Amino acid sequence: MAFRRTEEDVLMTATPFTATILGSPRIGPNRELKRAVEKYWAGNLDRSGLESVAAKIRRDTWESLTAAGLDSVPVNTFSYYDHVLDTAVLVGALPPRVAGVADDLDRYFAAARGGTYDGTDIAPLEMTKWFDTNYHYIVPELGPDTSFALHPAKVIEELREARALGIPARPVVVGPITFLALSKAVGGAVAPISRLGELVSVYGQLLELLADEGVQWVQIDEPVLVTDILDNAAELAGQTYKVLGGLAKRPALFVASYFGELTDALPALARTPVEAIGVDLVAGTAAAVAAVPELTTKTVVAGVVDGRNIWRTDLQSALGTLASLLGSVGNLAVSTSCSTLHVPYTLDAESELDPALRSWLAFGFEKVTEVVALARGLTQGREAIAGEIAASNDAIAARKSDPRLNNDHVRERLSSILASGAQRGPAARRREVQQDRLGLPPLPTTTIGSYPQTSAIRVARAELRNGTIDTAEYERRMKHEIAGVVKLQEDLGLDVLVHGEPERNDMVQYFAEQLTGFFATENGWVQSYGSRCVRPPILYGDVARPEPMTVSWAQYAQSLTDKPMKGMLTGPVTILAWSFVRDDQPLADTAAQVALAIRDETVDLQAAGIVIIQVDEPALRELLPLRSKDQAAYLKWAVEAFRLATSGVEDSTQIHTHLCYSEFGEVIGAIADLDADVTSIEAARSHMEVLDDLNAAGFGNGVGPGVYDIHSPRVPTTEEMATALRNALKAVPAERLWVNPDCGLKTRKTDEVTESLRNMVDAAREARADA
Ligand code: GLN
Ligand code: ZN
Repeated sequence: MAFRRTEEDVLMTATPFTATILGSPRIGPNRELKRAVEKYWAGNLDRSGLESVAAKIRRDTWESLTAAGLDSVPVNTFSYYDHVLDTAVLVGALPPRVAGVADDLDRYFAAARGGTYDGTDIAPLEMTKWFDTNYHYIVPELGPDTSFALHPAKVIEELREARALGIPARPVVVGPITFLALSKAVGGAVAPISRLGELVSVYGQLLELLADEGVQWVQIDEPVLVTDILDNAAELAGQTYKVLGGLAKRPALFVASYFGELTDALPALARTPVEAIGVDLVAGTAAAVAAVPELTTKTVVAGVVDGRNIWRTDLQSALGTLASLLGSVGNLAVSTSCSTLHVPYTLDAESELDPALRSWLAFGFEKVTEVVALARGLTQGREAIAGEIAASNDAIAARKSDPRLNNDHVRERLSSILASGAQRGPAARRREVQQDRLGLPPLPTTTIGSYPQTSAIRVARAELRNGTIDTAEYERRMKHEIAGVVKLQEDLGLDVLVHGEPERNDMVQYFAEQLTGFFATENGWVQSYGSRCVRPPILYGDVARPEPMTVSWAQYAQSLTDKPMKGMLTGPVTILAWSFVRDDQPLADTAAQVALAIRDETVDLQAAGIVIIQVDEPALRELLPLRSKDQAAYLKWAVEAFRLATSGVEDSTQIHTHLCYSEFGEVIGAIADLDADVTSIEAARSHMEVLDDLNAAGFGNGVGPGVYDIHSPRVPTTEEMATALRNALKAVPAERLWVNPDCGLKTRKTDEVTESLRNMVDAAREARADA
């Protein structure tokens, strides 16, 4: 089926759809894809074995979405690793260093993970967070020699596969503006976004090809349009979609946005010939959509079902939102606010959920049924879904009145502590009393918290879970691990020790399991990156700490040494960032409650004789709002939560924090404002910059810029770390400089860690001698 030139013609030939989602989970309901790709990497599964697992996951997904009643189903949202990397392949933008890998799938995995191919070491591409989610994408590298060219095999094959099954398939691709905005220039190449014109012509070829395949609709994802990453986003959107919309042969175009409001990019898109625009109505408002007159000739795909959190939709209110758009838009379709990639597959996999809690929730599959119900309500009238609305109202009312959502004791304590100031003494005075008490050498050495998660630890955890051993035996084994880690640190001559965190598999889960107001899922896995999945806890109610969570481990570890043992906690922002969080009150209020629980823990640690306490905030940057106008308010509450968590102790108790995984640029001022006595910060890639930035932000406390990258198995030499320290000393005086790795050591092997830390301690000695 070929389309002619004008917008009207395209609309006439492309059947409008009424119910869809923007994308779906793809790791398999029981993480089948994770297992299969890991076997393939290990050489225990061949390519056709892997492909048949993947094909089954795709088929099951499409069939279940179609059977549930979606009349347009996203395809090409499957991925062996990451959809941004898939897009790099689609447009021919893999870096030259992987070109020598002959097999296309291995080449793809080489870009994602690096490795040794035919005796050559290939470094992987970088990975970073996808907008403000905890999903990580592969950052495409565009060099001076990158020349875009269409490689459509994946999308065409998946499309044909779906159509052969009778699926109303809608191919999905990451859009050209978003792709370039998320790419990085390498080798002195021009800014990626300046190559938009070139890339748009490759997308034009793709659209023509899809039209030849008889595709009616194609979804082009442009989430970057809801951010301030580009300063001329609206203009670029207008130009790009005018060109693509003006193509003589193409399917109907559905430009999808999510994670925020389009603001001025919405009218800009509405003035182009695209047929449909997707808006996130969980993050944004219907009024902003109704205000754009050009939308009266467009299909608006209204994301009223939250695609990234797990709460059941208020169907009555969502139907009201949809109804408010009738008349302002040409056509209205119902959707999730974003891909459901960010939520688990289905509640059916949870057998131990309290029935009340279950009724408040909707995972991926349940969200599809909500979309379908709303679309029915929209076309057939409210009465047609009266039963669904009643059930949703009941669940929402029950949730509102559940006593677990409102703990007066916590709320009263919180307001009285906040009213009393929740502040520590001045930093300089704290430094003085801590110095007297701790008597540490200049450039003290320490580590970030975790030590290798050995197989003995994993076995113990599994045996405790399946009942082979009891808690007492488990604790005995963990203590054995702790003793080993303490002895190692004493032998190496580190100055401030840690217990190694053997009892924590995932740190956020560890705290969530011990706090009220949280519950854990059994099978609520969500892809974090590649084959790595996480199971975020659900923070549903008021948070309280019934009893100490870490004190006995810390106390035991301290009993083994005369050196100071750091207590090890996770900060409120990070606990929120890595959980599904209640949506019935501002995040700031929830953060304060978590902070209070952490504060209680610091006070108990101090009472147990712990003199240094670290409160990690690696996710501080992750929750930063996508629009700059919202960032200051976020940073304010994030800093307040950290200060609330850490101001319950005496000035003589030293508070550390740790940050990693991100570019700190926009949050550097907030890091300084945390006012921790010591901040360890990932810096192996650029020592000087982060220290200069901290200085520029007026930071005058202790700082430990990571002296080596823990992501690589390579053992760093004494010399390179000594050089790093000498460089650091140009920015920070010896009295303020700490020596530590970039991050925790849990993913490394014991031998690597031993050698690396031995060299690190030697490097510190050398640097001390020169300082
Ligand atoms: N203390 C934690 C660890 O060492 C910090 C983890 C992190 O920064 N992500 O593992
Ligand atoms: Zn870290």
